[in-house]
Amino acid sequence: MGSRADFHTHSTFSDGVLTPTELIELAYRRGVRVMSLTDHDTTEGLPEAFAATARHPDLMLIPGIEMSTDVPGAEVHILGHFIDWHNEEFERRLVHLRESRLGRARRMVQKLAELGKPVAWERVESFAGEGAVGRPHIARALVEAGHVATVNEAFDLYLSRNGPAYVERERLTPEEVVEMLTAVGGLPTLAHPRELDGLADLLVRLKAAGMTGMEVYYQDYFPDEVERLRVLAEKHGLIPMGGSDYHGLGGPQQREPGDIPLPDEPVERLLTLARERGALQGV
Ligand code: AMP
Ligand code: ZN
Ligand code: FE
Ligand code: FE
Repeated sequence: MGSRADFHTHSTFSDGVLTPTELIELAYRRGVRVMSLTDHDTTEGLPEAFAATARHPDLMLIPGIEMSTDVPGAEVHILGHFIDWHNEEFERRLVHLRESRLGRARRMVQKLAELGKPVAWERVESFAGEGAVGRPHIARALVEAGHVATVNEAFDLYLSRNGPAYVERERLTPEEVVEMLTAVGGLPTLAHPRELDGLADLLVRLKAAGMTGMEVYYQDYFPDEVERLRVLAEKHGLIPMGGSDYHGLGGPQQREPGDIPLPDEPVERLLTLARERGALQGV
């Protein structure tokens, strides 16, 4: 039932609930043999993830990241696979982004207090653990404090882009991030594109900037949506990629690692492209 590949997963190093080791064990048990850890704006989970693959020589782990970018009125996420995560300039930029996330999360917590929904900063920090702090951690603190029943409700009432406690992150354009990923040997893929306005225009711009893929076999996308997106990806010369975006947070739309209808053919196309670019050395 599952796919043998999953190019989009999260661990405790961003807003997932499983450690990289637990995530890899779960994915492996479920039959995944090609996977990428794509934590938000950080590569810090990769050493543990690679260490965990030592027990599974038949599992290929691709170094990855998911970066948040902004377009007017919306957020665009870009996945980068096969990145050279040891590149110092790249790491410096990620550290800077994470530091700016910290200040932004503190401002959201302050807004919640002003709205009469206080959460303890220590709880947000604790949910974030070693990871890049984000809205899901604040959402979990809101649930724990009894202000809302679920993480989804926390987003609906307070934390969504138009919510009363929302604060913007430092802005990066999708083009900038595609270039930043390409500069470290990464293959950039547009994540969960279904809701994006002006998608065709965005694809033209990002393809020109060096983007190589678009997520098509994503989480709970219906077969007709998958087919529409697959046709669009092919039209723009992008590899139709797939990922569960597993966080382990539950919720109706969540899928287990590998629980996506991703066929082998695009997986092979990605690996071939990576090989051509010399990105498979050392993976
Ligand atoms: P941040 O990067 O801090 O802005 O948080 C973005 C993350 O919040 C996304 O990657 C999702 O994991 C999560 N998220 C966004 N919207 C929702 C929602 N409505 N319900 C649950 N989680 C969400
Ligand atoms: Zn996330
Ligand atoms: Fe995302
Ligand atoms: Fe994600």
